[in-house]
Amino acid sequence: MPDKFDLVVIGAGPGGYTAAIRAAQLGKTVACIEKRSGKALGGTCLNVGCIPSKALLDSSELYDVTVHKLARHGIKVDKVGLDLATMLKRKDDVVKTLTGGIAGLFKKYKVTPFYGAGKLAGGNKVTVTTDDGKVTELEAGHILLATGSDSIELPFLKYDGTNIVSSTEALTFPEVPKHLIVVGGGYIGLELGSVWRRLGAKVSVVEFLPRILAIADGEVATQVQKLLTKQGFEFHLNTKVTGATTGRGTVTVNAEGKDGQKLALEGDRVLVAVGRRPHTAGLGLDIAGVEADPKSGKVKVDTHFRTNVSYISAIGDIIDGPMLAHKASEEGVVFAEQLAGMKPHLNYDTIPSVIYIWPEVSSVGKTEEQVKETGKPYKVGKFPFAATGRARAMDEIDGFVKVITDAATDRILGVHILGARASELIAECVAVMEYHGSAEDIARCTHSHPTLSEAVGEAARMAYSGLPINF
Ligand SMILES: Cc1cc2nc3c(=O)[nH]c(=O)nc-3n(C[C@H](O)[C@H](O)[C@H](O)COP(=O)(O)OP(=O)(O)OC[C@H]3O[C@@H](n4cnc5c(N)ncnc54)[C@H](O)[C@@H]3O)c2cc1C
Repeated sequence: MPDKFDLVVIGAGPGGYTAAIRAAQLGKTVACIEKRSGKALGGTCLNVGCIPSKALLDSSELYDVTVHKLARHGIKVDKVGLDLATMLKRKDDVVKTLTGGIAGLFKKYKVTPFYGAGKLAGGNKVTVTTDDGKVTELEAGHILLATGSDSIELPFLKYDGTNIVSSTEALTFPEVPKHLIVVGGGYIGLELGSVWRRLGAKVSVVEFLPRILAIADGEVATQVQKLLTKQGFEFHLNTKVTGATTGRGTVTVNAEGKDGQKLALEGDRVLVAVGRRPHTAGLGLDIAGVEADPKSGKVKVDTHFRTNVSYISAIGDIIDGPMLAHKASEEGVVFAEQLAGMKPHLNYDTIPSVIYIWPEVSSVGKTEEQVKETGKPYKVGKFPFAATGRARAMDEIDGFVKVITDAATDRILGVHILGARASELIAECVAVMEYHGSAEDIARCTHSHPTLSEAVGEAARMAYSGLPINF
C-alpha cells in the first residue's frame, strides 16, 4: 500500500518547501521529495544560489572595505590578509544552518520528507527513487511540481567542472582566480564576478548584447557598467563567444565582436552564466500528460498554478515569470492557501528584484524603456545619493533613486535604485505600489533623518512636484 498524503510536493526549494509548510499549517497531510545529495533541503537558493553567493558577497565586501575604504575613515589596519578557506567555510556554515532550519520546520509542522528522485507515475501516484535504487510509491490528493532550474550549458563551451564552470563551482574556487572570464553580463555573472574581483582576480565579462543587465532599466545598467569598470571589471559587449581551448590550468575563450573583430581572452577560470532553464528531466511529465512549452521547457499553468492535469500544479522556476526565490516562495504560499480553499492573490507587477553588487541595484515595476513603449505620458523623479547626509556620512555617494510615474495620475509605475543598501530600500516602494500608491504618497511619508531612505522620498517628491527640497 502506498503512503497517502493530501499533497505531495516534488522539490524542496523556496517554492516547494514554502508550499509544503503552508499547506501543513492549514491542516493538509504533506510529503515533500528532494533529490539533492546529503538530504539538503532549500533547493538552489539555499544550497548553491542566493545564500552562498550572498555569504561570499558580504565577506568579500568586508575585505574590500578593509583594504580600500577604511583609511578614508581614519582607521589604520596594519596588515590585511585573506584566509579564503575560512571565508568558504563560513559560507558553508551559513548554508548548513539554514538548510537544517528547513528540516526543523518540516518536523515542527509535520511535513514528511522523502529523499530521492520524485517522478510522476501516472494517475495520483508519485515514486521516490533513492540513490541505491530503492523505490517508494506515494499516493497524492494533489501533486505540486517545484523542481526549479539548472544553469544553461553552451554547446561550444561545455562545463568541465574545473576551468569552465557554472555558478555552482564558482562558489567554491579553492584559490582566487588570476583571471576570471565571465560569459554573460546578467546578475549572477556580475555578482560572482564581484566576489572574485574584490578578492584580487582580474575579471572580464563577455556579453553578446550591446549592454549588461538586459532586463534592468537602461540608465541604471549604463551606470552600473561605469561603476564596475572603475572597480576593475573589463567589459566586452556586442561580443559572441565561439569556443574555448583549454591548456594546462588555462583557458582561452575565443569570441567575435559584432564588427567581425576576433578576440582571444586567456584566463584560468571561465564562469558561464548565460541563464537558467527549467529542471524537468526525469520528472515523468510525459507519463502524467503534463504539458510544457516546447521551446522554453516551462510547465504550462493557469493563473491558479494548475497544469492541464487538474490535480497537478507547478510553481517557481519551472513556470513562467522571473526566476527568483521570493517569487517561488510567494507562489508556494498562494498555491497552498488556494488548495485550502482560501482566495489569495499574487501581484506579479510588484515583484522586486535585487542585484547584490556594490553599490546594490534594486527595482520594482516597469523600466523607463517599458513605460516609453506604452506611449503614455510619464514622469521621472530622480535623486542622487550624493545629496543625502547619510550617504555622505557613510562615504557611499554613488547612485540614485529613480521613480517613474503615470503623468496623468501620479501612480507609480516603476522604481529603480542604484546605491548602498538598495536591497532594503526597495521594500517601501513595493508596499506603496501594492496599494496602487502615487509618488506623492511616498513623498508625504516622513523618512527618518539622516537615512538613505530620504533619497526615495526626494525622488518621489521630484516625480510629483518637479522639485525635491535638497537638490
Ligand atoms: C548563483 C545564484 C544566485 C542566486 N541569487 C538569488 C538571489 O539573490 N535572489 C533570488 O531571489 N534568487 C536568486 N537566485 C535564483 C533562485 O535560487 C531561484 O529562483 C530559486 O531557487 C527557485 O526556487 P524553486 O523552488 O523554484 O527551485 P529550486 O530552488 O531550484 O529548488 C528545486 C529543488 O527541486 C529538486 N528537484 C529537482 N528535480 C527533482 C526530482 N525529480 N525529485 C526531487 N527533487 C527534485 C532540486 O534538487 C532542488 O533542490 C540565484 C540563483 C543562483 C544560481
